[in-house]
Amino acid sequence: MIHIERASSRVFKNLVIGAGPAGVAIASTLLDGGSTPTLWVDPHFQSGRLAHYTEVPSNTKVGLFLKYATTPASISGSSDQITQVFKGMDSDKGCSLGAAQQMVTKITETIRREYSDEVVMQRGRVDSLALTNGVWHINGDQARADRVFLALGSHPKEASPQHCAEAMALDDALMPSKLSGLVSPDETVGVIGSSHSAVLVLMNLLEMQNGPKVVNLYRSPLKYAKFLPDGRIVLDNTGLKGQAAEWAREHLETGHFESQGRLKRVDVTKEDAESALAKCSKIVSATGFDRNPLPEISVDGERLGDVSHDPSSGAIISGKLYGYGIAFPEEITDPEYGHKESNVGLWKFMRYVRDVLPAQNLCTLQRAG
Ligand SMILES: Cc1cc2nc3c(=O)[nH]c(=O)nc-3n(C[C@H](O)[C@H](O)[C@H](O)COP(=O)(O)OP(=O)(O)OC[C@H]3O[C@@H](n4cnc5c(N)ncnc54)[C@H](O)[C@@H]3O)c2cc1C
Repeated sequence: MIHIERASSRVFKNLVIGAGPAGVAIASTLLDGGSTPTLWVDPHFQSGRLAHYTEVPSNTKVGLFLKYATTPASISGSSDQITQVFKGMDSDKGCSLGAAQQMVTKITETIRREYSDEVVMQRGRVDSLALTNGVWHINGDQARADRVFLALGSHPKEASPQHCAEAMALDDALMPSKLSGLVSPDETVGVIGSSHSAVLVLMNLLEMQNGPKVVNLYRSPLKYAKFLPDGRIVLDNTGLKGQAAEWAREHLETGHFESQGRLKRVDVTKEDAESALAKCSKIVSATGFDRNPLPEISVDGERLGDVSHDPSSGAIISGKLYGYGIAFPEEITDPEYGHKESNVGLWKFMRYVRDVLPAQNLCTLQRAG
């Protein structure tokens, strides 16, 4: 439910759903590009999933967070306040995602304070979208909009129910302050995966004072991002970066914790996963993320099932419906291996949205330089 004063008398140019880093990139780009009024809906306006990961070390450098924060011209007057949290930090190093979370929330607050006519922010959820005669009707007819931008985000895939061990939420396992109260030294915890998140969970469990024993079940070997001299990054989205990469090289590749009897790593393509899992009282699955549920979408009375987007423009229905962020990511080609990757991260969302929205005549941006 969303509550919009004079909603039915007001047709918005844009509806942006979601106020995570992607929603902020879209709302600020539309504002910069003179495309308003925008209705912006989110249950919390607290930076989306970043709010769950405040203790997680970033895999991107502070410099890229600063670029994200200082690119939208409309909020440049509040730039110092928005980027205050990074003061004194080395722009070539990582930071905690808590700093990025504060920065994204401050951008959101700046838009609320300075552009309340152009961007109408409503706490709530969009549950249904019906396109009739070229106009979107939102949650029945609570409001209307010409076009819709989905920035719905994602959530961790759940552990497979066949494991009899208790499933532990990935979000809790990524936060050391929560994790310490959830496991005891006499337990064995299974961590499934070899992704960036899996390595962060292994680091949290194994660096914990009086931590449990850990079994890590993985299908693919650890992969590391590689920075090329021309600025491109090999395995930019699938390889380990930042503190997780340093820690994995130092502690996993050397067998450090295995030699202490704290860790057993099991390659499930060669070894028996079931007997390893049988020893575990708790399991954390770090095997990826699924898109959050879509609102019910219909076009001229016909219900759309799942939707697919063009990963080079975000278009789902050209001129009417677009998707961005982790739920509808840009696709890029890896510079060394040639495979496709989903391009995910704050600066990547901002850069992509600012490239593709003007290219599709959804707003007009003044090009810098
Ligand atoms: C462990 C980890 C580490 C990471 N490290 C980095 C990093 O170092 N650097 C970096 O740049 N990125 C990093 N990321 C990526 C980044 O945090 C996420 O990709 C990002 O939060 C996704 O942004 P989003 O806006 O697409 O979605 P989200 O942040 O998930 O936001 C989606 C928002 O939409 C709202 N929503 C959903 N459905 C509806 C609806 N029907 N109506 C209204 N609102 C709705 C949700 O409530 C939420 O607020 C990391 C991610 C993880 C998991």
